[in-house]
Amino acid sequence: MGLSEIEARVAAACEAAGRTRDTVQLIAVSKVQPRERVVAVLDEGQRVFGENRVQEAQERWPSLLEEYDGVSVHLIGPLQTNKARQAMEFFDAIHSVDRPKLARTLARLGQEIGRCPDLFVQVNTGAEPQKAGVLPEDADDFIAECRTLDLPLRGLMCIPPADVAPEVHFRMLAEIAARNGLAGLSMGMSGDFEAAIAAGATHVRVGSAIFGERDYG
Ligand SMILES: *Cc1c(COP(=O)(O)O)cnc(C)c1O
Repeated sequence: MGLSEIEARVAAACEAAGRTRDTVQLIAVSKVQPRERVVAVLDEGQRVFGENRVQEAQERWPSLLEEYDGVSVHLIGPLQTNKARQAMEFFDAIHSVDRPKLARTLARLGQEIGRCPDLFVQVNTGAEPQKAGVLPEDADDFIAECRTLDLPLRGLMCIPPADVAPEVHFRMLAEIAARNGLAGLSMGMSGDFEAAIAAGATHVRVGSAIFGERDYG
């Protein structure tokens, strides 16, 4: 695997779905990966990255952003309200907006700071108790609430349950987005990004297939 193979597979999946390549953004998920692997992928030309944790991103990226132009970093992991200011100041997109308190905090900070990243509402399509995200049945109300707060909602994000076919979850996310007039669909990871592109993904979040397995040791 590696960036060029994944890039080729993204392009092929776009073509198979009758979509142009520029309708899908490949987010290289660099969480936990050693710096030299991230540098190698930057040197290959990748410019959009995903991180799971605010602190890890802030340790890793400032120096790299000085060395490389045109990089954007997306937060794809859960966001605690006490890290919201740092996240709002640092990231280009946040994929994990998932509760009213966080939405209100982001709205207030957006006013204060005068900027706001692109925001995605995370939907817990499998209603898994251990997973973040609004429940599917609460999604419409929550999206409306975010809009009342003037948050710049770009789309929806999901992480399907690990042990089932993801297509039904991708379809559910696409339906919720369509009926709420949202264009962005952040879905698909190393194991299922091609299925996600077939289902309309606009952002795929691919980690281990680009960088290799994460070593949590
Ligand atoms: C880690 C992570 C990914 C990437 O997972 P891979 O299976 O390594 O591609 C994508 N999305 C989220 C939210 C993640 O936490």
